Amino acid sequence: MAIRFLRTEGDPVLRKPALEVKRFDAALGRLLDDMAESMYYYEGVGLAAPQIGISKQIVVIDANESGLLELINPEIVFAEGEEVDIEGCLSVPQTYGEVKRAARVKVIAQNRLGERIEIEAEGLLARALQHEIDHLQGVLFIDRALRILPPDDMETVE
Ligand code: ZN
Repeated sequence: MAIRFLRTEGDPVLRKPALEVKRFDAALGRLLDDMAESMYYYEGVGLAAPQIGISKQIVVIDANESGLLELINPEIVFAEGEEVDIEGCLSVPQTYGEVKRAARVKVIAQNRLGERIEIEAEGLLARALQHEIDHLQGVLFIDRALRILPPDDMETVE
């Protein structure tokens, strides 16, 4: 396993729609392992592959109660409610903003074996899912922020 170099705002890979994953092989497993190790190392709640320069639809998340989630080709199939909360992003250092997200979401994805998985979430996990899936479309939270906060604040969703 290895810690991967983080890409930050201004890097074009963060703005490109990521490609669907079609091969569920050992290389994908190694990439997922590196993504999880990197996420924990940088102390993020989640990490999307474009954030380490890989334009593929892959996300890892660990939002406390969820444990480590590995999501390949994730898609939000249901969303309801609204919640405004503060977010940050490993790829946008020292910046926090208020972002409106759906309060509850249902996501379908594949696991590292290519099997279909389904996740229903609310709270921090729902927010992290929306934030990370945005990364796969080249969208950053600063695009959605209602306002950007002064740089001394609080809890974050990466
Ligand atoms: Zn992010």
